[in-house]
Amino acid sequence: MKLHALPAFHDNYIWLLVDDNRQCLVVDPGDAAPVVQFIEANQLTLGAILITHHHPDHTGGIHQLVSRWPVKVYGPAHENISGVTDRLEDDDILSIMAPSIRFRVIDVPGHTLGHIAYYCEEQQPPLLFCGDTLFSAGCGRLFEGTPAQMDASLNALCELPDNTRICCTHEYTLANLQFALAVLPDDPALNERMTRVQALRNAGKPSLPTDFTTEKASNPFLRVDEPATQKALEAEIGHPLTEHVARFAALRAWKDRF
Ligand code: ZN
Ligand code: FE
Repeated sequence: MKLHALPAFHDNYIWLLVDDNRQCLVVDPGDAAPVVQFIEANQLTLGAILITHHHPDHTGGIHQLVSRWPVKVYGPAHENISGVTDRLEDDDILSIMAPSIRFRVIDVPGHTLGHIAYYCEEQQPPLLFCGDTLFSAGCGRLFEGTPAQMDASLNALCELPDNTRICCTHEYTLANLQFALAVLPDDPALNERMTRVQALRNAGKPSLPTDFTTEKASNPFLRVDEPATQKALEAEIGHPLTEHVARFAALRAWKDRF
C-alpha cells in the first residue's frame, strides 16, 4: 500500500493510503478539495474515512466527501462528530475491506479528551495515524486533557515498534525543533535533525512520517527525565521538579509561551 501526504490549509497533512486496485482511504480530511483533486487525478475510489478527533481542520471535508462517495466514516466513540458512522474506542479492531487493511484503535486523550489513534502492524514498516497527539519533535496542545493524560498517551504510543511510520497531521517539525533547541541547545540529536529537516523543507518535502527511533532520540516531550532536560526545566521554572509528570507539564507550558 502506498502512503501519501496531501498538504491542506497552512500546515496540515491529509494522509491517504492507496492499494494496488486503486482503492484508497483518507485520514482527517479537514478539507475535501485536495482529496477530491488527488482521487480524480489518480482515478482512485474512496473506500473509507478515518477521523482522529473533532477539530474542524480534521473533519471539515467529511460531508463533501461522503456526498460524492457514500463511505463509512470511522471516528472516536467519545466525541460527537457530524458525519461519523462508526464509533471506535480503545483496543477496537477496525477491519476495512477496500482497501483491505486492519487497524487497532488506541485511546490517546490529551489534545482532546476523546482523541484516538489508528495503528496498523500488517504494513511494513507499521503505520500510525496519531492526529494531533504526538508530533515530530513535539506534542499536541492540551486543549481538553491534562498533562498526565497526554504523557500517558505518548507513553502508550512509545510501546509500538521503533520503526513505525508516525503520520502526524501537521508540519510542525521546524517550529518544534526550534523550541527543542531552546531547551537543549547543545543536543547532538536535535542539531543533526534540524539540519536534516531544514534540507527537506527547503526542497519542499514533508518532514513526515517520522518514527519512534527518531522521536525517542530527539523529541523533548519523550525525554523529560533525561538529566539535561530536567536541568533546563528547573532553570526555566526556578525550582526543582521531582515528579515525571510535573516535568512534562512544565515543558508543555514552556512550549505554550515560547
Ligand atoms: Zn486538533
Ligand atoms: Fe489539527
